[in-house]
Amino acid sequence: MAQAPGWSGVSRQLLRRLRDIMAGAGAAQERLDRVVKIIAAEMVAEVCSAYVRRAGDILELCATEGLRPEAVHRTTLRIGEGLVGDIAAEARPLALADAQAHPNFAYRPETGEEIFHSLMGVPILREGRVQGVLVVQNRTQRQYTEEEVEALETIAMVLAELVASNELLSRSTPAGGAGPALPLRLTGVKICGGIALGRAVLHQPSIAIKRVVAEDPETELKRLRDAVQGLHDALDTMMSAADLSGAGEHRDVLEAYRMFAEDRGWLGRIREAIRSGLTAEAAVQKVQNDTRVRMHQVEDDYLRERLNDLEDLNNRLLQHLAGGGTATPPAELPEDAVLVAHSMGPAELLDYDRKRLRAVVLEEGSPTAHVSIVARALDIPVVGRVKDVFSRVDPLDPMIIDGDMAVVMLRPAEEAKQTYANAVSQRAERRASYAKLKDLPSITKDGVAISLNINAGLLLDLAHLDDGNAEGVGLYRTEIPFMIRSAFPDVAAQEALYRQVLERAGDRPVTFRTLDVGGDKVLPYFTSEHEDNPAMGWRAIRIALDRPFMLRQQLRALVRAAKGRDLRVMFPLVAEVAEFAEARRIFELEIERARKKGLPRSVAAGAMLEVPALAFQLPALFGVADFVSVGSNDLIQFLFAADRGSPRMAERYDVLSPPVLTFLGQLAESAAGAGKPLALCGEMAGNPLEAMALIGLGFRILSMAPPSVGPVKAMVRSLDTGRLGEFVRGLRQLPSHSVREAMRTFARDYNVLV
Ligand code: PEP
Ligand code: MG
Repeated sequence: MAQAPGWSGVSRQLLRRLRDIMAGAGAAQERLDRVVKIIAAEMVAEVCSAYVRRAGDILELCATEGLRPEAVHRTTLRIGEGLVGDIAAEARPLALADAQAHPNFAYRPETGEEIFHSLMGVPILREGRVQGVLVVQNRTQRQYTEEEVEALETIAMVLAELVASNELLSRSTPAGGAGPALPLRLTGVKICGGIALGRAVLHQPSIAIKRVVAEDPETELKRLRDAVQGLHDALDTMMSAADLSGAGEHRDVLEAYRMFAEDRGWLGRIREAIRSGLTAEAAVQKVQNDTRVRMHQVEDDYLRERLNDLEDLNNRLLQHLAGGGTATPPAELPEDAVLVAHSMGPAELLDYDRKRLRAVVLEEGSPTAHVSIVARALDIPVVGRVKDVFSRVDPLDPMIIDGDMAVVMLRPAEEAKQTYANAVSQRAERRASYAKLKDLPSITKDGVAISLNINAGLLLDLAHLDDGNAEGVGLYRTEIPFMIRSAFPDVAAQEALYRQVLERAGDRPVTFRTLDVGGDKVLPYFTSEHEDNPAMGWRAIRIALDRPFMLRQQLRALVRAAKGRDLRVMFPLVAEVAEFAEARRIFELEIERARKKGLPRSVAAGAMLEVPALAFQLPALFGVADFVSVGSNDLIQFLFAADRGSPRMAERYDVLSPPVLTFLGQLAESAAGAGKPLALCGEMAGNPLEAMALIGLGFRILSMAPPSVGPVKAMVRSLDTGRLGEFVRGLRQLPSHSVREAMRTFARDYNVLV
């Protein structure tokens, strides 16, 4: 294969020449024609072509040196079609010695490109959107070097302004780079539930980079230094002012983020780009483009999230270079802003006026991302992983965000808007009616008390204890603080956190669950081997017993934090009584150890019943456990052998079905026989219809996401359990796939609010 013929990098002289042509006189088309000629010559390529994005997600060949001139404005490709379409779809460069052998190669006979074997192309990006593609081709199977790819990317930055101007497209086609203004329904993953209507605000540095090519690198390096200093100062101010009700985890998030601002590799790459002839802001944007390309390639969620933080910092630095400190100034933010972003760092979200924020839509994002944790704390619906949303929405486009269904609608039709607006006001009404129940007891019409508790995982969640006046925290998931730190938190840090949890809960009991990590919940500092079935792998109590050091530290912290108070601890994913007994033994050791320094007022140890095997040892289990809490999310996935995270499985089996009712009913009978408390803390407890079935089976303690307490309490207060037990018992033996309809009919017949 042929090597690059002695060409290694873009010269400052070339950049200046290109800049002068761009800024010079003449029609846009003429200027672009000259530019592709120069690039082809400089890069020793037989072909250089510029494709420009036009409406309808189409790329149009707008200028070429080397392909047939008659193909200009005739050849078009859809985004995603062929290699050029692929570069635009993925927003990343491609360099191929043998382009025709690539599976995505799409041949366009009118261009005469069959004689060119190698191809290198880069996206032309402006403000985070793909505006076109710049391509060079050679006859030989040329192996383009990384420096050449970098150089073409730098050149593409210089072209971006011209390409985005819409002056280049053929008159027969509608101009515009944002796709057709038609309604569009996109799906993603649920990050925070809720519904919102609003108008799009594209989250990006609202700074159009005016100067790309620098006169003097030293001046630019100095500008960079000043901007970095400004960035550090602003972050320090933000950290001291972050007022998320004083929640501890958010500080950790911001601190981890602050460390990135000092990352030498990141700043080093920006300096390097300045030395190659770019202005400081163009250099930052180039590194930002590189980060996005890397983001596409990284599978690991943790790493992707850290790259998101880096994207946030790049934006921030651009703002400082432009002389401003914050993102979109509040005056420009509509009253009903829906933020749309590739990704977002936690600090960036906090820059926006919370009163105007209705929802957030991200191309990236996962429920455990830093920004998600902050958004949840602010109670804003968020949908993540919405592919290409950023390039498909225009500023102030109307949008509907259905966080519960993970659906995003762009430019929705009037009827959809009306439907959702009704849903939003109905929700508001319902919330108001639940608020009225707040101080009323959770008791059925025939006087059966049902204990309603919340599931929590952040200090901030505890504020919701008051919303519905829940009895306590039935499940405190302890993993989040472990997941957002870069090292295992020591006993003192854990103790301080657990103490705050108990203090905020006041008199209400909190059931702490020991770490349920492993499987798909990865700790950044704890490596384990890849497993094909992580949900059934080395996780939860299995890790705890194999690495008792971590468990002991956590239990020690809990015992110390609960000095003088009641301490309730439960162990996740117990599969057999022996595991529970061993965990309990370690717990007792820690209690013994704390004896001199002061003990909790009372101690209770429970098992989460999430593995069906444990149900076959109930008498022995009730002999050693103080209580049992059913983790129905895991239990049901194992009962039906159906992955709880798989959308395809989501509707396959119904929790309201004879096998589940039989399984849970027997459990309830067994617990009642042993006189031991039995709770359920999976998702099903929070759905009024399912909660009604659980009450019919004999469950009296339920724990759920905080927003469910109101609806479930309304159901409880409208229920008479007299006939329910018998009715649910009758359903257990049916051969049906689901008994949901039968339960609904019961609710209707007896006026139960489900
Ligand atoms: C469950 O499995 O039902 C449960 C409550 O635990 P998690 O959802 O955290 O796995
Ligand atoms: Mg579980």
